[in-house]
Amino acid sequence: MFTPLKGRSVIVTGGSKGIGKGIARAFVRVGADVLVVARDESTLRAAAEELADGAEGRVETTVADVASVEDCRRLAATAVERFGGIDVLCANAGIFPDKPLAELTEADVDEVLGCNLKGTIFSVQACLDALSTSGHGRVVVTSSITGPITGYPGWSHYGASKAAQLGFLRTAAIELAPRRITINAVLPGNIATEGLADMGEDYIRGMEAVIPQHRLGSVDDIGNAALFLASEEAGYITGQTLVVDGGQVLPESPAALEGI
Ligand code: NAP
Repeated sequence: MFTPLKGRSVIVTGGSKGIGKGIARAFVRVGADVLVVARDESTLRAAAEELADGAEGRVETTVADVASVEDCRRLAATAVERFGGIDVLCANAGIFPDKPLAELTEADVDEVLGCNLKGTIFSVQACLDALSTSGHGRVVVTSSITGPITGYPGWSHYGASKAAQLGFLRTAAIELAPRRITINAVLPGNIATEGLADMGEDYIRGMEAVIPQHRLGSVDDIGNAALFLASEEAGYITGQTLVVDGGQVLPESPAALEGI
């Protein structure tokens, strides 16, 4: 039995869609107060309405771009103002536009690193003091198997950003330990989201074929992992990664899946 997270103050960046909304829902279900962050106001409002339906905890929103240091500071201040502090930051906002390495421009790389890496670093930095005051501060970063473990054509810049998040968190974990803040990452495999749907049916069928469980993950699968890493009971886990992928990274070759 885990210590209830009811009343904890949680920020979920990129919480208006996909995995972030799944993470937000997981916290809302256990009675936490959740600040949902994204750039598009109408999507954000719709997500908040959906999340608030039957929720025990409060659901608030703020429009912010995590690629902006100023916005990161503002979103942290908003959570403190509305909920009285910050106990958990889920640094989830991310983009994955695909383009072959040969065609990548400086602007393409800046865009992906700006959101996925800088957005992670500066949202964590902005929340530090409040997380420290919490006494059980938790940061859960949404990385990916792509980059840290696997590769996929078109995602060299994306993979670099997701691997870089892990380099960041390993040192951050050491620096934050005296403040009683843990920082860990969830590494999703292929999760059924709006973002992934844009990749098309062929991509999705191909992925299902090579996942030992033969299904894409759900956003709830990631929400549950984030909830665990944010729990009181996970307090001695820091600087670590949790792969949630239905076994996708395990087969050594296509032969390993024959008959499976
Ligand atoms: P998604 O469905 O496209 O949702 C992305 C969310 O992030 C939206 O709420 C989006 O809202 C927000 N966002 C994007 N850029 C932002 C910015 N600069 N500032 C603030 N919010 C921003 O994507 P997803 O599939 O759920 O992916 C979420 C995270 O999971 C990403 O970090 C991604 O790398 C990771 N991931 C996904 C998968 C997968 O299979 N789906 C697998 C591995 C890892 P706005 O556009 O309105 O800002």
